Amino acid sequence: MEGKKKQIAILGSTGSIGTQALEVISEHSDLFEVEVLTANNNSALLIEQAKKFKPNTVVITNEEKYKEVDEALFDLGIKVFAGQQSLEEVVEGENIDVVLTALVGYSGLKPTIRAIKAKKNIALANKETLVVAGDLITKLCQEYGVNIYPVDSEHSAIFQCLIGEQYNPIEKIYLTASGGPFRGRLRNDLLDITKAQALKHPNWDMGAKITIDSASMMNKGLEVIEAKWLFDLKAEQIDVIVHPQSIIHSAVQFEDGSIKAQLGVPDMKLPIQYALGFPKRLPNTFKRFSFMDYPNLTFEKPDMETFRNLQLAYDAMEKGGNMPCILNAANEIAVAAFLQDKIGFLNMSDLIADCMEKITFVSKPTLTDYVATDEATRILANELL
Ligand code: NDP
Ligand code: MG
Repeated sequence: MEGKKKQIAILGSTGSIGTQALEVISEHSDLFEVEVLTANNNSALLIEQAKKFKPNTVVITNEEKYKEVDEALFDLGIKVFAGQQSLEEVVEGENIDVVLTALVGYSGLKPTIRAIKAKKNIALANKETLVVAGDLITKLCQEYGVNIYPVDSEHSAIFQCLIGEQYNPIEKIYLTASGGPFRGRLRNDLLDITKAQALKHPNWDMGAKITIDSASMMNKGLEVIEAKWLFDLKAEQIDVIVHPQSIIHSAVQFEDGSIKAQLGVPDMKLPIQYALGFPKRLPNTFKRFSFMDYPNLTFEKPDMETFRNLQLAYDAMEKGGNMPCILNAANEIAVAAFLQDKIGFLNMSDLIADCMEKITFVSKPTLTDYVATDEATRILANELL
C-alpha cells in the first residue's frame, strides 16, 4: 500500500490553497503523502507542517530563515533548502507524482516549467503562470506528456463538465464571477475604497493578492486567459457571468446548445481534492449543497466600465504575445501598491493600462522575452507610481 500513495509536492504550503491542500491530504492519508513543502517567509508554519506531514524535503525561499528551519527539522531527517533556485530544483525529485503550484504570482513560472520538464503532472492553482506564458507552458506540457489538473474552482468546474466529452467540441464556456465586495457600485463609489473594504470577500477566504484581484475583477480577467490556455478557446468563446451566490462554479455549452454546469457550496477543498485525486472522486465530509437554501440563483452582466481590469485582460488576451505578461506584472505592482496605501483602488487599472501601452510588444516571446518583459514592466510600473 505504502508504495502506491500519490506523492505530492506543495509549492506554497503555508498559503490559503496550501493549507487547505494539507487538510485534504490529512483526510486521505491512505492515498496521499507529502514529499515536498515550500514557503516564502512563514517559517513557523512551515516547521509545524513539516513535523506533522514528515516530507522528504522542505524549501524556505527567504534565505534568512534557513537556519531556523534547518535546526527545527534536522533531527527528523528532513532535508532543508533555501532560496529561489532550490524552489526550482526541488520539483524534480524522483518520488514526486504531482506538483501542486500554490505560489502566488509570477514566482510560480520557473518552478512550474522545471516540474513539467521533469515530467511531473501539475495541479495548478497558480493561474498567473498560465497568464504570463500560457503558450510556452501548454507546448511544454504536450512535449513532455504532462497533464495540468486545474485547481481554480471555475476551471475545475469546466474540467469536470468535459469528462466524457472528448468527441464534442466546446461551443462556449460561461465563467462565473461572484462580483466581489463592490458588485453593483459605479466608478464614483470606488474612489475612496480602503484596503480593509477590498480585503473582505463575500464568499471566499483567500490570500491577499487574489482577494484584491477579486474585488477589482482582475481575478476574472486572469481566469479568462487561464481558460483560453487550459481549454484551447478563442476570446469569443469565453463569457463572464456575474453570479453572486458562487454556487454554479462555471458551465460549458456544446454544439447542440446543451449546457453542463458544476455546482456546490463555495469551498476550495473540493477542486483541490478533485485535482489531487483525479480521475477518482473521493468521499469526504465537506458541507453539502441544498437547493432549498438557495431558491434564487441570480445572474448579471459584468460591468466592464467600472471594472476596467476585466476589459484590459480581454484586450491583452486578444493582442497575445507578451501582452498578458505585461498585464500580470503591472497588476502585481498595482496590487502591492494598493495594499501599501500608495495608490487608490481605481488607479490600479490606470497603471496597468499605462504599462500595456508603453512596454515594447513582442508577438512571439521566448522564455527570455517573458522574463525581460516581467522585469521591464515592474521597473516602469514602479516609476509610474
Ligand atoms: P497565499 O498568499 O495565501 O499563499 C501564497 C503561498 O506562496 C504562501 O505559501 C507563500 O509563502 C508563498 N509565496 C508567496 N510569494 C512567494 C515567492 N515570491 N516565492 C516563493 N513562495 C512564495 O495565496 P493563495 O493560496 O490565496 O493563492 C495561491 C495561488 O492560487 C494564486 O495564484 C491564486 O491566484 C490561486 N488561487 C487561490 C484561491 C484561493 O482560494 N486562495 C482560489 C483560486 C486560485 P509565505 O506564507 O511563507 O509567505
Ligand atoms: Mg477562481
